[in-house]
Amino acid sequence: MLSDLIGKIEKARRYAAEPERIALDEITVHFNGSNNEHTIRLVQSRWACDCEVFHLRGVCAHVMTLQKVLAPMLSAEAREPGPIIIHSELISMIEKSRRYVHELDRIEIQALRARFHGTNNDHILALTETGWSCDCSTFRVWHTCAHVMALQRILAPMLPAIAREPGAVSVEEHLVSALS
Ligand SMILES: [Zn+2]
Ligand SMILES: [Zn+2]
Repeated sequence: MLSDLIGKIEKARRYAAEPERIALDEITVHFNGSNNEHTIRLVQSRWACDCEVFHLRGVCAHVMTLQKVLAPMLSAEAREPGPIIIHSELISMIEKSRRYVHELDRIEIQALRARFHGTNNDHILALTETGWSCDCSTFRVWHTCAHVMALQRILAPMLPAIAREPGAVSVEEHLVSALS
């Protein structure tokens, strides 16, 4: 059983270098912007941000930043730039998002739903306020799996504390019950 888990950890390392296996269907992000806090959502390949610029223009530096950071996991539609806007505004948004890309601690992923194209099967993963879930059989036993571990590696700087937990607590519990 433990060697099985070690195998999964190896697999997760490999998967983490292949983010194109992951298709993000939904994500909710808390963004600590330069002046205000914002919530950004992706649902059915459409972005929305609660900032004023997005309301006016349908695009903003926050969405642009997430499009860059999450690019390999996004559908073609979700990667599309927003509506054409005034040149000078666009320049300032691009500049801001360029800076934000290097300040990932501004971003906290609060929830997501993704499909993972695994070696043998496809799986559905989710992150909610209670933590991760995956529909694979390894997750049912260990409360973690190669799919969750790979996403944890890829998204690490943007995850809240609960989502960074390695599932080690439940692994230890399993070890204790196996040994006693
Ligand atoms: Zn915004
Ligand atoms: Zn899994």
